[in-house]
Amino acid sequence: MKKNFPDLEIPENLFNRIIEHPRQESPLESCGILAGTNGRITKFYPMTNKEKSSSCYLMEPEEQLRVFQEIEKKGLEVSAIYHSHPHSPAFPSQRDVDSAFYPDSLVFIISLMADKVSQIGAFQITRK
Ligand SMILES: [Zn+2]
Repeated sequence: MKKNFPDLEIPENLFNRIIEHPRQESPLESCGILAGTNGRITKFYPMTNKEKSSSCYLMEPEEQLRVFQEIEKKGLEVSAIYHSHPHSPAFPSQRDVDSAFYPDSLVFIISLMADKVSQIGAFQITRK
């Protein structure tokens, strides 16, 4: 089974690891980078939330730089950036909108609000 987002394909085993990460980090927000080619995600990089907060996140800058370099070296592209919302819906917060630095990549938000089922929202946040 594959999960399909617009123009994006995620193998199920990878998808399961992606939704597991927020549970491990809960109640803090978790974040990470998804990379692949031609709309197919092949790599998942869990990142450190430097803010150590349950309501916002900031990727550890050096770690982020290293991952971006590795993605480029492998000839992949950044497909999506994800983070979790332990206590709020899978919808971008004002802060998420204000800090959307990568308008070309999708933003995944994984909500843990509902106890057993993770909800995922995929957004493209663009600047006006
Ligand atoms: Zn958020």
